[in-house]
Amino acid sequence: MSKPAEELSSRIGGEVLAPNSDGYDEARAIWNAMIDRKPALIARCRNSGDVAGTLAFARQHDYPVSIRGGGHNVAGHAVCDDGITIDLSGMRGVTVDPDARTARVAGGATWRDVDAASQAHGLATPGGLISDTGVGGLTLSGGIGWLRSRYGLCIDNVLGVEIVTADGEIRRADEQENADLFWAVRGGGGNFGVITEFEFRLHPLGPEVMFCAPIYKLECGAEPIRFWRDFIVDKSDRIGSLVEFSTVGESEDFPPESWGKQVYTIAAVYAGDAEEGEQVMQPLRELAPMVTDFSGRLPYCELQKLFDELMPAGQFRCYWKSHYLSELSDQAIDDILDGVTSVPSPNTLSSIWNFGGATAEVPADATAFGDRSMPWMYSIDSVWQGAENDAANIDWTRDFWGRMQRYSHDGRMYLNFPGQGEEGDKLLRDTFGENNFRRLREIKAKYDPDNRFRFNQNIRPAA
Ligand SMILES: Cc1cc2nc3c(=O)[nH]c(=O)nc-3n(C[C@H](O)[C@H](O)[C@H](O)COP(=O)(O)OP(=O)(O)OC[C@H]3O[C@@H](n4cnc5c(N)ncnc54)[C@H](O)[C@@H]3O)c2cc1C
Repeated sequence: MSKPAEELSSRIGGEVLAPNSDGYDEARAIWNAMIDRKPALIARCRNSGDVAGTLAFARQHDYPVSIRGGGHNVAGHAVCDDGITIDLSGMRGVTVDPDARTARVAGGATWRDVDAASQAHGLATPGGLISDTGVGGLTLSGGIGWLRSRYGLCIDNVLGVEIVTADGEIRRADEQENADLFWAVRGGGGNFGVITEFEFRLHPLGPEVMFCAPIYKLECGAEPIRFWRDFIVDKSDRIGSLVEFSTVGESEDFPPESWGKQVYTIAAVYAGDAEEGEQVMQPLRELAPMVTDFSGRLPYCELQKLFDELMPAGQFRCYWKSHYLSELSDQAIDDILDGVTSVPSPNTLSSIWNFGGATAEVPADATAFGDRSMPWMYSIDSVWQGAENDAANIDWTRDFWGRMQRYSHDGRMYLNFPGQGEEGDKLLRDTFGENNFRRLREIKAKYDPDNRFRFNQNIRPAA
């Protein structure tokens, strides 16, 4: 073991890995197989004391720090070259208070952990679409899932956090205590410290929910999508939905004649009574002849794992980018249909997401996330295999994204789908809004003046 590893190891309870340690390569591997970063040390923290000890050590030896939750960040922010990676993946406990309808969730938990623990009491909080995405990264930049229509973004359900700031202090942040920090972490990402515990509000849901998923051939064209757009607009307080474009794989779930063909799924979840949801969403299943239909009533926990197989960890190289859209005009739909026909990889997905409902009710200055008036988002999730295909896939994504820019909602982008964040400060200013961005930089200067947490959508401290 190296000397720094020995020193850190003597200060914390969790395991410390250096480049020559057994298990180092497994510990630095994350969801996107393209990312190959080599931290000087990986601290596998077991509790907030370990996190505080690691941060004190980092400050003393001037190491930058990256934070690993579920490891799903596509830009690879969980790991850093030559710094210390604080690995929270061993901190996954969830404690539910069914009477108060709240859950305390450790900083390295995944949505699978939260859903299972809260559904045991017939409760849920909005999470992501894939069960092994980390609660930490997904929540801190907003958090967009099926329940956004009725219960808002993930951050809208955070009641408070335990956070270890760059100075090694363990603090509580909520509406009463360290309210500036509480405001900043709801949208500002991992810039302000390591969240060792989230407290979430829970809502009664399920156990059964209605999932709608008719699959139409791409050649069915714009009509079904236009119908979906008009149908959903006054139901955005109950239905979280997306139209997902994909290519059918050689799977026995699909008729063989559809293998290799491009399709789109009109996927939707009714956040309420399953039987009512089935009736309300029936028209979405009658728009054209279907390739197949995966619709049905199912347990909420099962719904939350449905897409996991499409997105296995560590097998694909990825580059994701998005636009919030001001409108979904007929022309925008035509441009999407045209753009996806040239997709270079059959594993790539892209999706039109609806907003409105509870998400739109929160004022722009209430959380760092910013303005909620975007009615739609278009995300391009480019996914492929082989380093030799990197350039073709990244170029295609950037080119298509560039062509969709004319529909952009004030240049704003979802900061969990930001490419490699190559737009820098401009992206952050546009996305947070001028006032929120200024306030975030001031709060960053107060809690992390040395920018110890810089492997993220980095908010530089105000001068
Ligand atoms: C397969 C897949 C599906 C996805 N689906 C959705 C979806 O449905 N909805 C959605 O909104 N997004 C989705 N995303 C995007 C996802 O929200 C981001 O990739 C997010 O960064 C993942 O969080 P993580 O904890 O797994 O990531 P990590 O890579 O572990 O962390 C990313 C960054 O988040 C910060 N962070 C993480 N945990 C903490 C913590 N406890 N304290 C402080 N900072 C922390 C750090 O800055 C860290 O570098 C998906 C991504 C993938 C790969």
